[in-house]
Amino acid sequence: RQGQLSPEKLAQKLCQADNVDAQMSLMVQLFEFSESERRLRDLLVTLFQEVFLEFFPGSAVLPFGSSVNGFAVSGCDLDLFLDLEKTKNFQASAKRPSGPQAEDGASVEQDSCSEDSILSDIDLASATVPEVLELVAAVMRKCVPGVHNVQAVLTARRPVVKFWHKESGLRGDISINNKLAICNTRFLQLCTEMDERVRPLVYVVRYWAKQQALAGNPFGGGPLLNNYALTLLVLFFLQTRTPPILPTVAHLKELSVEEERTVVDGWDCSFPKDSARLEPSGNKEDLCSLLSEFFRAFEDYDFAGCVISLWEGRPLPLPSFLSSSEAGSKLKLGPFNLQDPFEQSHNVAANVNEKTALRFQRCCCNAAKYCRSLQYQRKSSKGKIWGLVRLFQPGATEASVAENFVIGLPLTMAVPPAQAHELLGQARDFHLLWFQKVCASVAFVLRDVLKCSCVEVGQGLGEEQEVSEVKQEEEELEAKTQQLSVGSKRPLDEGGSNVSLPAKRLRVDDLLPGEESMTWNCAVWHRVWLGRRRIRRQLQGPESETQHQKANSLDLEAKVSEAISQQKCEARPTDPLFQFTVCAQASRGGTSCEQDTRISLRFSTDPEQASVFQEFFHFLQGFLPRMVEQHLVRKA
Ligand code: ATP
Ligand code: MG
Repeated sequence: RQGQLSPEKLAQKLCQADNVDAQMSLMVQLFEFSESERRLRDLLVTLFQEVFLEFFPGSAVLPFGSSVNGFAVSGCDLDLFLDLEKTKNFQASAKRPSGPQAEDGASVEQDSCSEDSILSDIDLASATVPEVLELVAAVMRKCVPGVHNVQAVLTARRPVVKFWHKESGLRGDISINNKLAICNTRFLQLCTEMDERVRPLVYVVRYWAKQQALAGNPFGGGPLLNNYALTLLVLFFLQTRTPPILPTVAHLKELSVEEERTVVDGWDCSFPKDSARLEPSGNKEDLCSLLSEFFRAFEDYDFAGCVISLWEGRPLPLPSFLSSSEAGSKLKLGPFNLQDPFEQSHNVAANVNEKTALRFQRCCCNAAKYCRSLQYQRKSSKGKIWGLVRLFQPGATEASVAENFVIGLPLTMAVPPAQAHELLGQARDFHLLWFQKVCASVAFVLRDVLKCSCVEVGQGLGEEQEVSEVKQEEEELEAKTQQLSVGSKRPLDEGGSNVSLPAKRLRVDDLLPGEESMTWNCAVWHRVWLGRRRIRRQLQGPESETQHQKANSLDLEAKVSEAISQQKCEARPTDPLFQFTVCAQASRGGTSCEQDTRISLRFSTDPEQASVFQEFFHFLQGFLPRMVEQHLVRKA
């Protein structure tokens, strides 16, 4: 993809805007493609058109998707529809004795179906989609200059021929039998014309979703939302405002006049061509609050329990949806049900899995929370990031919610049976004792194996935090975030003195009754998660891993961390790479049996350090439970 803005450049530019509305409008300006890119695309379409006309008389090449729907992003793919309807008619009429006269009256060159025409190889009326697409691919490979990597992808719901145009760097798809896409593209375009808030909102939501890895798999497919689905979700949201910013699709149909009536593949696709005929919305909400309302609308949305209908502009509860329409019974239900505005038996988010649906909700929840803060609403006077910028940091708003970073320790079996038995004798103390042992091991691994600073800051934090209200916490977090980003040096005292951390602390309702908890503030000074295997091999020498070494792997791992920390700079840097808080919690089951003690480690960090923390966390997920277990075994 060409001409793409780096996240850093984007952040810089956005921070200079005056308010969130200006930031959102700027997003459109920064991402939409230039006039020259538009011309380049037009030229490419013309090139394809010329070539295809030669092989498929009467055919038309029509762009759809982001190149023309009003949501273009520089370098976005070029979606093309090859309309062979007329070619089919030509071929059919050429076969009839009356001569090659098209049904619609257009004349065709006599030789279009002659011996050497490609049409002599195929009967378009009876050929399957894969057969036609293979032929299209062959034409592209041989006859379209500058086109490479031509590949027919026949397994998709809409089979396509993919290509890459080398000089322009553009990638694209050609499909056939996809007239509905032309209609829905025109519909999206109409929406952008109806209200000027549509484009900025869609650009921002698309970019946000991409940054949070919720959408935009560049290779297509997979369990993520695609841009079309996301766009429909924004349009639906705008239909549900009071008063509505966009009309329902059913209402648009009523407004259409005779010559606008269109039915494609049996679906009514009638809507007005010209937005000038439509009443502008009386809704005056600004972009800043619309965006935050968007996140609020979907933070606890029941995506699985209803079908989002743009036709009706409301969610349709599953039971009535299933029973009331024929389309309903054919729509593929899943964790995320978003009905196509025209092809009503099609769930455009049918590929989305439960994990993505839940993550979408959670990201909306975190984003909504962030949008309530002053950091979102007001430009920083101190040159700090504000507004959209933090929203776009990968995982940033996610990190402020501790629940997302949890490691469960399935360690109950690690206690040698004899000891467990002995401990169980004093059943009442068993859980506490076990919890303390595990906590000591966790601290050991963080401090002694991974060389992090690790300061215990409290046990049973629950009661202590009882008085703190959510709001107060948020303000604190806000202030600390600001303080952090000023770049103030806050040396972390290893001796155990009080360390102020910008991380969100646990509230009383995060703890269930009958739980123990222990919290540490930690700092990481080196990227101890990188290149461990190589250093381990160097330290271990050539011989394979023996039992003896395995038992010593805590020591070995400690040496690996040591080596990493000495790699670049011998002296410890003055500031840690990042800091985090980890809270160990034990929850007891009803019986006093060791299997009922579950210990989970909840991590939280400052949102600004979320991306580096995430790398560390992924490493910890595998590393920490293993090491803690080894330490417990060693102690036993
Ligand atoms: P971009 O290419 O930048 O991701 P886009 O708007 O072109 O954005 P695509 O996913 O390429 O989005 O989709 C292009 C077109 O293909 C859409 O406008 C729509 O007509 C059609 N389309 C894409 N996905 C679906 C889907 N899940 N269901 C129905 N039609 C779809
Ligand atoms: Mg596209």
